[in-house]
Amino acid sequence: MVQLVEERPYRWRIEPEGGMRVPGVVFATRELLPDPSEDQALAQVAAVATLRGIVEAAYAMPDMHWGYGFPIGGVAATDVAAGGVVSPGGVGFDISCGVRLLLADLHVDDLRPRLDKLMDALDVSVPRGMRKGAVWRLHSQAELENILAGGARYAVERGHGEPGDLERCEDRGAVADADPAGIGSRARERGLQQVGSLGSGNHFLEVEAVADVYDEEIAEAYGLWQGRVCVMIHTGSRGLGHQICTDAVKTMQAAMTRYGISVPDRQLACAPVESHEGRAYLAAMAAAANYGRANRQLLGQAARQAFDRVTGHGDLTLLYDVSHNLAKLETHQVDGGTRRLCVHRKGATLALPPGHADLPPDLRPVGQPVLVPGSMGVGSYVLAGVPGGPAFASACHGAGRRLSRHQAVKTTSAATLRAELERAGIAVRGASARGLTEETPQAYKDLDAVVEVCVQAGLARKVAKLAPVGVVKG
Ligand code: 5GP
Ligand code: MN
Ligand code: MN
Repeated sequence: MVQLVEERPYRWRIEPEGGMRVPGVVFATRELLPDPSEDQALAQVAAVATLRGIVEAAYAMPDMHWGYGFPIGGVAATDVAAGGVVSPGGVGFDISCGVRLLLADLHVDDLRPRLDKLMDALDVSVPRGMRKGAVWRLHSQAELENILAGGARYAVERGHGEPGDLERCEDRGAVADADPAGIGSRARERGLQQVGSLGSGNHFLEVEAVADVYDEEIAEAYGLWQGRVCVMIHTGSRGLGHQICTDAVKTMQAAMTRYGISVPDRQLACAPVESHEGRAYLAAMAAAANYGRANRQLLGQAARQAFDRVTGHGDLTLLYDVSHNLAKLETHQVDGGTRRLCVHRKGATLALPPGHADLPPDLRPVGQPVLVPGSMGVGSYVLAGVPGGPAFASACHGAGRRLSRHQAVKTTSAATLRAELERAGIAVRGASARGLTEETPQAYKDLDAVVEVCVQAGLARKVAKLAPVGVVKG
């Protein structure tokens, strides 16, 4: 059993033991900590701390729960020059899964009379999975290559959005160093059919409205006024990213002994960043990240069209688009020295502080918008990055699962859940009966509590809370 020590309120420590090179640090209240009898996420933090080259600590966010190899909500950075590794399990299967928030020039009271119509329009224009097709049918590998290299930038070039959108995308809509060359044929096949589709279950497009403002100055800079209608889109790189992760895990499991690497869990398969396998994974991962960004760009555009048809307000402004499953090469101060690190954020959001050079000029004074979805009935938060945050400028990515899908379906029925949501004024579209019950709000942790930990632990600042109005579920 993993021993936790409360270092100070909202921060717990797992002392290094066995093969751990650094401690584990978990941001949580006692209530939010996973129950070790049901969820092995704390043991996973300890296991991540054994990875070659890891610096400072294996961190976990308050929305943490069990994941493949790494916990979801995990943040770990390795020192590239010291032979630090990259691990596909530290990014996750849905490479560059993330969230985009668009703002309508519309008050929720004015939307209400047309809400059902809008939800029907969104229902039709947001493809969910394989069978229902995608916004953009690709006809050739060449077109796919352009998306893999150009991400949201390429989508905008082809008329799917406005150049201004890119200013508000992490990495301006495309990661450099993407190399599709190493992507296998199965991944490509899956990629051709799914760009501009939501995916299943936990992925969604939600209409929301600004319900509470906590920081007037930042809210104003973000354009978040009371009652403003917003659209939150949560999706990733679909089957393409999944296949790339699957392929890379296999390759690395076979290659590890060659690099003299052993890990306590095969799911932590990894390779030095500066190895053939490490570089190949990062290049393929970057291509999948671009695919994920193009995907969200296309769905944002589909939302604009639906809004335009029904409300005449198709001019949705992009507040921000950010990934929560990614590894990035970043420069940070560690022990007084500047190091090049491979920062894994899996179910954790980048949260750049005010003044950071990677922010667009108009957001630089206030810091990066951090988008934190809660659950179907609960809404979401917008936070902002803060100076000097621990964990390499990261924050939580959601409320985080509390119950497995299997446990969740036992707590309610689809009919009950649908009725409850509709009684609360939340329109629901899509989702199979099983899909809906797997996503019951009861399956997730207390969003307010998770966000409070982020604030108290110095990870981010609270800006606004968004209330749900209607949701299209994958
Ligand atoms: P993940 O990326 O781990 O699949 O999900 C991110 C987070 O999205 C979850 O931890 C959960 O808190 C949140 N979430 C899942 N479904 C919904 C939804 O329908 N609406 C909102 N607002 N949040 C959701
Ligand atoms: Mn995802
Ligand atoms: Mn996600």
